[in-house]
Amino acid sequence: DAQDVASGDEKELRAPICCILGHVDAGKTKLLDCIRGTHVQEREAGGITQQIGATYLPAENIRDRTSLKAETAIKVPGLLVIDTPGHESFSKMRSRGLSMCDVAVVVVDITKGLEKQTVESLHLLRRHNVSFIVALNKVDRLYGWKECTNAPIVEALKKQSDDVKSEYKWRLTKVVTDFKENGFNTAPYYENNKKKKVVNIAPTSAESGEGVPDLLLLLVRWLPDIITDKLAYDDTVECTVLEVNEHKDLGTTVDVVLINGVLRQGDQVIVCTKQGPVTTIIRDLLTPHPMKELKAKGAYKHHKEVRAGQGVKIVARTCKEGIYVQASSVGTLEAIIAHLKSSSVDIPVYAWNLGPVYKQDVMKASAMLKRKEEYAVILAFDVKVMPEASALAAESGLKIITADTVYRLVNIYTEHIKGLKEAKKMQFAAEAVFPCTLKILPNRVYHSKDPIVCDVEVVEGVVKVGTPICVFTPSKDKSKNIIVHSLGRISSMQTSNGNQIFSARNGVVAIKISGDSPQEKSRSYGRHFDSSNELVSEISRRSIDVLKECFRDEMRAENWQLISRLKTQFKIA
Ligand code: GDP
Repeated sequence: DAQDVASGDEKELRAPICCILGHVDAGKTKLLDCIRGTHVQEREAGGITQQIGATYLPAENIRDRTSLKAETAIKVPGLLVIDTPGHESFSKMRSRGLSMCDVAVVVVDITKGLEKQTVESLHLLRRHNVSFIVALNKVDRLYGWKECTNAPIVEALKKQSDDVKSEYKWRLTKVVTDFKENGFNTAPYYENNKKKKVVNIAPTSAESGEGVPDLLLLLVRWLPDIITDKLAYDDTVECTVLEVNEHKDLGTTVDVVLINGVLRQGDQVIVCTKQGPVTTIIRDLLTPHPMKELKAKGAYKHHKEVRAGQGVKIVARTCKEGIYVQASSVGTLEAIIAHLKSSSVDIPVYAWNLGPVYKQDVMKASAMLKRKEEYAVILAFDVKVMPEASALAAESGLKIITADTVYRLVNIYTEHIKGLKEAKKMQFAAEAVFPCTLKILPNRVYHSKDPIVCDVEVVEGVVKVGTPICVFTPSKDKSKNIIVHSLGRISSMQTSNGNQIFSARNGVVAIKISGDSPQEKSRSYGRHFDSSNELVSEISRRSIDVLKECFRDEMRAENWQLISRLKTQFKIA
């Protein structure tokens, strides 16, 4: 170790990227669980973070799980383990996936020896020149094995009977021979003194954890010595795409493993796709919340920048949002697009095509279904729509509009959008709560308890039939300064001359508040509140979202200001 420090040049190393390979049932998933500490107590999971398609183990976590002395240097900041068995896209792109790995753990079932897929993995590793360690797994299956949970393997072996030791020995010898037949020299790591040439075998039990500390230690201590150059941290970004998704709220997201360098918000990146290179700007960088923060707001943690090696979700900013246009000739297509772009119409175009509308066009245009429903439309001018395209569109909810003049095409589209908006308003009307504050006029309370009937002055916002109303009262418990008392919903409303109305933005109106729950029904004017209390519409996170989503056109700037003030009072994040 002293030598380590002496010879250690100052080169900064990044976290090695590790994947797990092996025959089916050899224990890849179980070993991964064991390494990730999926089942361990939060307290013991020290710093392990679940990432996009990977798990990050800080070096300190590995040190804590082994008998390694505090002063012993670990040159890498941690270890990034790719969730190979779980990650489907990894197996689909094995070979590309492998090329991003610095090291592999090949899991071999000690009771079965080398199997077909083990040998296949070995060929792949050799082809990609990836170093590996053999995890000789399921040692606890040796007959008579005495369990020594999470113990280093040498210690665990010492505790075994002579019978177990001899079974272990002959099975190990058999595996070493099998490897030799496949062209690899291997040795148990604790007897291996040619670590650069002879592949290490780390006996493990993914069931009771024997040997797992040794395996982790090999990955962070032995590996950096043999591939120091490869692990040198470098600012040049090197990244592998795991998958691309259309996310309802986030738009296009790209799950990547960042092998080297730093990614920052605002960086421009180019992604190779089947349709050619796509240039995009990084809008946000996300990783899942650590386990203990799962209840935190939103599913992801946001980062201004991330440093290799990490698994991260890139929220891409592609400006392409709009409708799909299909026409019979280039001339008409140009005319339509020009018309759509004109300031009086102003409808963005996402993509276009010539000739009949086929299934592929519907598929392409459907990208908008998840992004912006109002753009999930094909405007088809003077072209045939193939039956299977119509069927797919109907099934997925994409609208195909055909017409014989450009003018009619745009008109039908505009009507369609209106219809969509109205339908959405109807669907969410019950959940929308417009903001208002009302002043109770004293001496003009006609019924003090369910239903409460009184005259009020609209102080701010807009009051509507259906709006839930509450009052704030100071709490006796000082830690909670105010309490919200729901009174019920406004069930009807009248002007001073007795006309029924449904909404009011100013003036004096008579309102009737009907309670829903027994609690609401029990609240009465004079006992629980009086004319010194303001009546306030009871908003929530959800009701604000509904307003934003469907009722923007009915909200004025001052209404949003009121919402933002009420948010603080209701303690809405
Ligand atoms: P995979 O197909 O390689 O991912 O294998 P799994 O991790 O799913 O394991 C296959 C089976 O072997 C499961 O029933 C595991 O519980 C079991 N298994 C895996 N590792 C061990 C081990 O070290 N000891 C014992 N006793 N069982 C194991």
